[in-house]
Amino acid sequence: MKEIKVGNIVGKVGKIVYDYLEVLEHPVGTIERLPVIIAQGVNSGPTLWLTSNIHGNEYTGIPVIHRVINSLNLEELKGTVIAIPTLNPAGSRVRTRYPYYDRKDPNRLFPDGNPFKEKPKEGITETSEITVDEEKKEEELTIKTEKVVKISVDQEDKEPKIVDPLAIFDNEELYPSVQEMIWKNLFEILKETADYLLDLHNAFIKSIPFSFLDRVLYNPDVEDDNKKAENLYNRTEEMVRAFGLTIVRETTPNKYIQKKLHRSTSGAALNYLRIPSFTVELGMYLDIEPEVVDAATIGVFNVLKWAKMVKGSVEKITSVPVIAENEAVRYIGHPRTKKSAIIDLKIKKGDFVKKGDVVAVARDIFGRPIKDDFEIKTEVDGYVFMINEGILRYPNEEICWLASPDTQPMVDKWPKKSRK
Ligand SMILES: [Zn+2]
Repeated sequence: MKEIKVGNIVGKVGKIVYDYLEVLEHPVGTIERLPVIIAQGVNSGPTLWLTSNIHGNEYTGIPVIHRVINSLNLEELKGTVIAIPTLNPAGSRVRTRYPYYDRKDPNRLFPDGNPFKEKPKEGITETSEITVDEEKKEEELTIKTEKVVKISVDQEDKEPKIVDPLAIFDNEELYPSVQEMIWKNLFEILKETADYLLDLHNAFIKSIPFSFLDRVLYNPDVEDDNKKAENLYNRTEEMVRAFGLTIVRETTPNKYIQKKLHRSTSGAALNYLRIPSFTVELGMYLDIEPEVVDAATIGVFNVLKWAKMVKGSVEKITSVPVIAENEAVRYIGHPRTKKSAIIDLKIKKGDFVKKGDVVAVARDIFGRPIKDDFEIKTEVDGYVFMINEGILRYPNEEICWLASPDTQPMVDKWPKKSRK
């Protein structure tokens, strides 16, 4: 039987092990630690990772993990469930999205699998080429030598290069943040143990529970990488479908990289570790909805059944609405206000809107219609699956989020010219 280890925490066959993984020593001496549960079945099989609360004010995943762990029958379980009920105890402690020790989105800091990212350079090799025409070359080089610190001419290609001796200290990529380092270590553990990963989140207060289906990206310069990506996508899609909630496709490759979504927990598990993984958004943040906890618990067991870790067939989710079944939809923030306004919604979550439908009307603080932007209409068809909080909107802010028909490929190339 395979030994399951999370850091120094060792799983026990037929038992549930509860312990903490130490991840950081604070400057004041206290230790940051993640609660880890290893539930190892009597029979061997794959390992499913369940993580939640990486955003400290998103709570639904915590009771879902409690319910799943407390309902497991280890005599029947094939394989292991590893659960981390909170990936962000620091944010959770103070009820904020981000941890107080690293004020960046922790769900954008996992290892970067993009083969075309700019790699941090070792040593003093940060160079910028200067373009000079051949005739002026000598003259200019002389001038530049006087002005700039140093010019080295590569003997191979005769390309003049300016060497900036400060560049090594000035390259942020050489200094990953503390959270990035924690995730790098956690991913080493994931790499050793995980076959599947499911990361539990919450979205807007008015949102229907749904699963994100990410695109699988491949390196066109690597032989058969597209075929492997196709396989990985098919298995991921099956797993997301087995879970049983509404499926919303993630954005397209360029925007995915721009928004660092490939460095989210599930994005990195999928596109860097190459294991079937996805994010579930379990309705409102800041609180929990019991019917969503019910639905997600069924969903996790559906995945366990799909992975043949638990016997039985997939159970249909009925406690929350499941929309866009058998449709390929992707999210867009739409429509948006042109001017600052107080909005009066004409739709509710779960509605289907058609191009030209009025989604909201916009008034000023006196209650008068906003000139030229009173009726805010959708320009595309789609399901209203999330509505931004509150009645105030600034210019260009979304009224809501639509799940609209998507025609883009789900297996695609890593973009070569992506920039952060
Ligand atoms: Zn979240």
